Amino acid sequence: MMTKEELLEQAFEAQKNAYAPYSNFHVGAAVLTADDHVVLGANVENASYPAGACAEATALNAAYSLGYRKDDIKMIAITSHGDTPARPCGKCRQIIRELAGKQVPIILSNRNETVETTIEVLLPDSFGPEDLLK
Ligand SMILES: [Zn+2]
Repeated sequence: MMTKEELLEQAFEAQKNAYAPYSNFHVGAAVLTADDHVVLGANVENASYPAGACAEATALNAAYSLGYRKDDIKMIAITSHGDTPARPCGKCRQIIRELAGKQVPIILSNRNETVETTIEVLLPDSFGPEDLLK
């Protein structure tokens, strides 16, 4: 299985493809699947700001589009270039909550600092599919 460091490098590669002419804040994401595939994402902004998409949402949605599901998602790496490793925004926390397991390692890095967390920590006491399916 791919290491955290290798997955982070893939996310840094994806970060180069960010389309962020408005914020100039480039983010990359790499999702590792159980069969050792890596699905990449970058943030893609839009002149109509709310129409933009975050890197981690792009990568997870792409993984699902390829047929992967929650149990297939083994690790998520998210890279950025700010003073601290960017944390997922609120919307992305909800997306990760839905599409990946609560214990899946989420690795955040800006190269100077790397942080490992989980969605259970980032979005505690959350709303999810089981709330609807009762
Ligand atoms: Zn986001």
